[in-house]
Amino acid sequence: MTNPAEAKPFSADVLANFERGNDREREVLIDLQRLGRIADFEVIGQQERFELRGKSGKVVIVGKTDATIRWKGLRVKAELKNWNPNLVARISTFGDLFQSPWTRAGAYQLLAYLLGANEEVGMMVLDRPGIPIMLPVVLDDYLDEIEEFLHRAEAAVLMKDAGELPDYHQDPTECKRCPFFGFCTPPISYKGAEVIFDETILQMLQEREEIVEAGKKFAKLDKAIKDRLRGTEMALAGEFLLTGKWGKNTTYDLPDDVKAKYKKTDDKGKFTLTITKVTDPVKIEGDTDE
Ligand code: SF4
Repeated sequence: MTNPAEAKPFSADVLANFERGNDREREVLIDLQRLGRIADFEVIGQQERFELRGKSGKVVIVGKTDATIRWKGLRVKAELKNWNPNLVARISTFGDLFQSPWTRAGAYQLLAYLLGANEEVGMMVLDRPGIPIMLPVVLDDYLDEIEEFLHRAEAAVLMKDAGELPDYHQDPTECKRCPFFGFCTPPISYKGAEVIFDETILQMLQEREEIVEAGKKFAKLDKAIKDRLRGTEMALAGEFLLTGKWGKNTTYDLPDDVKAKYKKTDDKGKFTLTITKVTDPVKIEGDTDE
């Protein structure tokens, strides 16, 4: 809010994804209008501006609703999103949107629209392969969440107007995905670190984190079984068929002086990437050789 020009610019790839997302959102809106003609609802408003004032009377949030739908006497504010399909695959209720920082902002956005427009019911429409998923929400069920959000938004506006900056964020994971990380150097700064905004990579890291323990368990069991059954060429074990085969393994038993003569070291021939979850350090190392 105080230094918007310092935010790290999005990469061309991310901008292209935004563009594609916007196109899809327009198409889904057109589909909704068509569907309304046969399914007894009507899209009555698009891009309606709203503003929300805090307790101080200052405007703290402004925005535009994607659509308003009239259905059986109800006015339903609809927000359309075209998020990464991996994200959408984990969502089945409006409450699920609060599970990820990438979808949480969308949930607050729709709740703010409802509060700003004084409407009770909203609908989050998430595009995905096949039929979009529709997530209804009743504002009353999330009053605490949106009031807390409004309170934080107001605190930010008041501090900005007073020319003050808040303390550094306490959660380093927030800093690591903050577009100002680098320009802003909190005490937990990772000097020289590149900040990755690619949603696909972030999602892959998240999914990887969820299966780390399962992956370790699999690797341990797989090795134990294969060590125990080394040499088994065909066997049935319960409902499992085990097949094995021998293959050639060529080794060269060279004298040390010959090995030393042909030894070559490339300082960048091997790369090790260590992935550490900042809030819960778990180190997993993987090597790749060129
Ligand atoms: S890098 Fe961290 S402390 Fe700095 S603005 Fe971003 S979230 Fe706040």
